[in-house]
Amino acid sequence: MSYKIAVLKGDGIGPDVVDCTIGVLNKVAAEHGTVFEYTEGLIGGIAIDETGVPLPGDTLDICKRSDAVLLGAVGGAVGGSKWDNPDGSLRPEAGLLAIRKELGLFANLRPAVIYPALKEASPLKPEIVGEGIDILVVRELTGGIYFGEKHTEEDFAYDQMKYSTHEVRRIAHVAFKAAMKRNKKVTSVDKANVLDVSRFWRKVVVDVAKEYPEVELVHMYVDNAAMQLIKDPHQFDVIVTGNMFGDILSDEAAMITGSIGMLASASLAEGTLGLYEPVHGSAPDIAGKDIANPIATILSSAMMLRYSLDMPEAADDIEAAVTKVLADGYRTADIAKEGDKVVGTARMGELIKKYL
Ligand code: NAD
Repeated sequence: MSYKIAVLKGDGIGPDVVDCTIGVLNKVAAEHGTVFEYTEGLIGGIAIDETGVPLPGDTLDICKRSDAVLLGAVGGAVGGSKWDNPDGSLRPEAGLLAIRKELGLFANLRPAVIYPALKEASPLKPEIVGEGIDILVVRELTGGIYFGEKHTEEDFAYDQMKYSTHEVRRIAHVAFKAAMKRNKKVTSVDKANVLDVSRFWRKVVVDVAKEYPEVELVHMYVDNAAMQLIKDPHQFDVIVTGNMFGDILSDEAAMITGSIGMLASASLAEGTLGLYEPVHGSAPDIAGKDIANPIATILSSAMMLRYSLDMPEAADDIEAAVTKVLADGYRTADIAKEGDKVVGTARMGELIKKYL
């Protein structure tokens, strides 16, 4: 068995964390009797330097011919990069928006996991964190208010929030399928006490739920969900919600973990193609210094194995290796506290490979 993986390292620490992740993927492939064929493409600032645009057509072709896309990060230093310019379409970040659109990535999956070994990093009280937290936020990415009709006049403006049955059904299926692989609970977040579009969302989600009788479905208003994430995060397994509510709640859920270098993400298209990337940016302040935390990207690659390459055991292996490395006290500088064994990017990758 072999899979084609498009590799877009991007800028800053992108190459550091992606190279490290490929080492882990190769070890996992060998252990599971699989071969990964990698094809590199340019995106972001480096693509502007070499081709004049942040997402060259070649890169898009490579992605479309692949089973999955592994991305590092794009962008230069905030407020002082050679790619700063008034034309938004020629900034590195425009490459990200373009690739999401071109690949039809409609579902964004962001796990918020507090590892037992890192629970002090959470801004929540220890009694709320308990032995750790594991939530998956599934956000609809290509519809809703961000993509509705927009209009501005002298004394008013509006943005239309619209969802079709098809759009809600497909994101609900992603959430229920993910829940089937986890703790079998979906919390659908909406504002159905006020919005027609939310009442419609709820009706469609209820209908999809009938296909997953083993999964418990709970509905929650978004204002309550924002409070419950902080008050009692253990009640959540999978949260599914629309674009704007998901934008806010996925950041809130991420921040209760307290570690930007640990946050993975997946964006899925219809079928099995997906794009996998860490939540953090290109961190130009630490690029090329072998100190970036590669775990967010390594955990994103585990999501790739689970959601695009149908290798759930291999994904479990990577996640278990990460848990064990942390439990044994190894940390990159960003998550280290006194007494930890501080290691660099490459060494962290080697340790995770060793623990697989
Ligand atoms: P950032 O996430 O790059 O960095 C914020 C802080 O976190 C920095 O101090 C950085 O050193 C640290 N950090 C981030 N990732 C880390 C890691 N893996 N290990 C250790 N420390 C880490 O955010 P920023 O500084 O606001 O943005 C820098 C550039 O990245 C900008 O050009 C921005 O537009 C871009 N950006 C890209 C993405 C993406 O590619 N998806 C996301 C966010 C920001």
